[in-house]
Amino acid sequence: MITGGAGFIGSNLAHSLAQCPEVSEIRVVDDLSTGTRSNLTGLGVHFREGSVLDADLLDRAFRDVDTIVHLAALPSVPRSVKAPLASHHANATGTLSVLEAARRAGDVHVIAASSSSVYGSNPELPKHERLRPSPMSPYAASKLAAEAYLGAYHHSYGLPVLPFRFFNVYGPRQSTGSAYAAVVPAWISAALSEQSVVVHGDGTQTRDFTYVGTVCRVLTQAALHRVVTPDPVNLAHGTHTSLRTLLTELERATGTTLRRRHTAPRTGDVQHSRADPARLRALFPGIEATPLDEGLRRTIAWFADHSNEFTPREPR
Ligand code: NAD
Repeated sequence: MITGGAGFIGSNLAHSLAQCPEVSEIRVVDDLSTGTRSNLTGLGVHFREGSVLDADLLDRAFRDVDTIVHLAALPSVPRSVKAPLASHHANATGTLSVLEAARRAGDVHVIAASSSSVYGSNPELPKHERLRPSPMSPYAASKLAAEAYLGAYHHSYGLPVLPFRFFNVYGPRQSTGSAYAAVVPAWISAALSEQSVVVHGDGTQTRDFTYVGTVCRVLTQAALHRVVTPDPVNLAHGTHTSLRTLLTELERATGTTLRRRHTAPRTGDVQHSRADPARLRALFPGIEATPLDEGLRRTIAWFADHSNEFTPREPR
């Protein structure tokens, strides 16, 4: 069961699980607030349109499932700054609702997506999971609440859980069109349509960019081997790429020169983000990260192939 399976990471996971002989059935619950049905085209998934806040729908959807990968969320920092309650409802209350339904369903493994944004204003690098979280946005606070609920359900009810902290994930099917688009798809889309790229701040901020294929491999291993821990696990490999370097890499990969337009730094954004991957490596020793240049090449190729299918739209 993938909640948020019509979104960027969820649909990539559905495509990769569909290749997995151990997986007999894939179900998706998604309210299509930021995801699209077309992300799942060609896959035989059982799709239910609806919200993770709908307990009856979850009871039907979770019947007889053994693993839930809970990805449904309103995933943007700026969006949460504009509408904090909506982020809280979807991300924190939504996670609580999923955990309650999992508890009613019985022995279900719940893997869920938290975010590196929970580290927030804590300046220490790299970000290891024992650092004091310090959310700078309502989004980060909602994700911290969500992962805390996973731990609490493990300790209170023995629910097998695994909270991951995703860092900046990029790859095919990531949304490009809205004001809330992440930097990699926004810049690839600008490069392919010969528009200037918007750089918030001076571009010296660094991120631990993670290719979505790497994330899907970890999620698949976690599900198949039922990896359980109530404590959060960074899902990134400890790289640090500045936005300036990202621009250079994109220019190299697309063979274009990108015009930059600098704007003020965004409220709630952190300056540096780099994971300590020790806990991830201990739990998933065999998984190597796809290098940035290769991940960007695959992502650019996908966007170039699918440029006609993209209708930019604002999230509802
Ligand atoms: P996405 O917006 O593409 O996917 C989220 C999906 O959840 C969408 O399909 C959306 O329609 C669905 N959704 C939203 N609210 C819902 C609700 N109430 N009920 C049912 N479905 C709902 O975003 P994504 O980038 O694929 O993110 C997936 C998860 O990973 C999210 O939990 C996000 O917070 C987390 N995450 C992502 C990143 C990243 O870099 N993409 C980084 C950190 C954490």
